[in-house]
Amino acid sequence: MEENKGTYSADARGFYGDFGGAYIPEMLYPNVEELQKEYQLILSDASFQEEFRSLLKNYVGRPSPLFEAKRLSAHFQSRIFLKREDLNHTGAHKINNTMGQILLARRLNKKRIIAETGAGQHGVATATACALMGLQCIVYMGAVDMKRQKPNVDRMRMLGAEVREVQSGSKTLKDATNEAIRDWINNPADTHYIIGSVVGPHPYPAMVAYFQSVISEEMKLQLQEQCGREYPDAVLACVGGGSNAMGAFYHFLDDPRVKLFGIEAGGKGVHSGFSAATLTLGTPGILHASKTILMQTADGQVVEPHSISAGLDYPGIGPQHAHLFSSGRVQYPSVTDEEALRAAQQLMRLEGIIPALESAHALAYLEKLSMQADEIIVINLSGRGDKDMETYSTHLAEGNASL
Ligand SMILES: *Cc1c(COP(=O)(O)O)cnc(C)c1O
Repeated sequence: MEENKGTYSADARGFYGDFGGAYIPEMLYPNVEELQKEYQLILSDASFQEEFRSLLKNYVGRPSPLFEAKRLSAHFQSRIFLKREDLNHTGAHKINNTMGQILLARRLNKKRIIAETGAGQHGVATATACALMGLQCIVYMGAVDMKRQKPNVDRMRMLGAEVREVQSGSKTLKDATNEAIRDWINNPADTHYIIGSVVGPHPYPAMVAYFQSVISEEMKLQLQEQCGREYPDAVLACVGGGSNAMGAFYHFLDDPRVKLFGIEAGGKGVHSGFSAATLTLGTPGILHASKTILMQTADGQVVEPHSISAGLDYPGIGPQHAHLFSSGRVQYPSVTDEEALRAAQQLMRLEGIIPALESAHALAYLEKLSMQADEIIVINLSGRGDKDMETYSTHLAEGNASL
């Protein structure tokens, strides 16, 4: 597994063009500097690689299948493949990153693990990793998300994690992240903060992207096997902070034959005041210790985001995505809550797969993508829909026209 040193990777200070860096309070210098100094050494160590690879294979269940969705393909008249991250242990791509980071934390001798979570998938993946390694686990989660993703709250607690309810702001992912950073500042010596996406101070964006890059690494082999060539014409992935998308794009960034699409959450409509379409609405600023693009008012107040899917309900985006957007390498359109619900149902009926609401955003973009009959499209199916049953059944029960 090679780290990407291509055109779009970070410089030594963790900058992707204008974006990235580490804008941290002084209390965090020792922690962040230790990570910056150590992480590449640890990751490139043969014993680390061996342990990481073995966990991905034997615990997570990788490689995840690349499935040619024939009925969906017939509907859209092209060749559509689903990268089945939903089939990973714990039901999403998040576990790839937590396996890497828990091994890192052990090598740094950290005994206490903290994390933030939105949809609860990262919280569950972190609680799982901590149970596996026998480490203490504290997860911060917004009160709104605790309600709409209750099964995941129960799972975290069963796995032995302490879930701390966050009541500030919009009581969602941004606020949970603030609380986790506050905890880290107060416990700098013994605590490792497992950030769940390609956000936060350098080196997190690069490190998390690397742990997720196994997704596109496998895609290349699987495409070669199934299509006779190792690249698709387009890759689609939903974007909250951007980790599943980064993993799915990673090995194609420097291949101009591959069109890349990161699909954001348009909520009730991009200009409705209730969306999380960061790159359509955002401007440059600093969020969660890195320079990126975020939704903010003219005087720099973070705008509360909205999405039906908790995992996309975030007002910022990873700094590498901000750079990929500014440079034009990746397009970042958005789809609405309604469109995502409709796409989820379409996948259920056509392929027998209940997707996470987050992943349904990537699926929904198929309606808008102009493609040719023989084109190969890969959709990163980032997670499964078990956690979203309540939302799905509410919309069914309401007699929603699309369902
Ligand atoms: C967390 C989550 C996301 C959004 O996070 P990214 O870092 O943007 O990938 C998307 N899909 C699922 C299933 C998730 O759990």
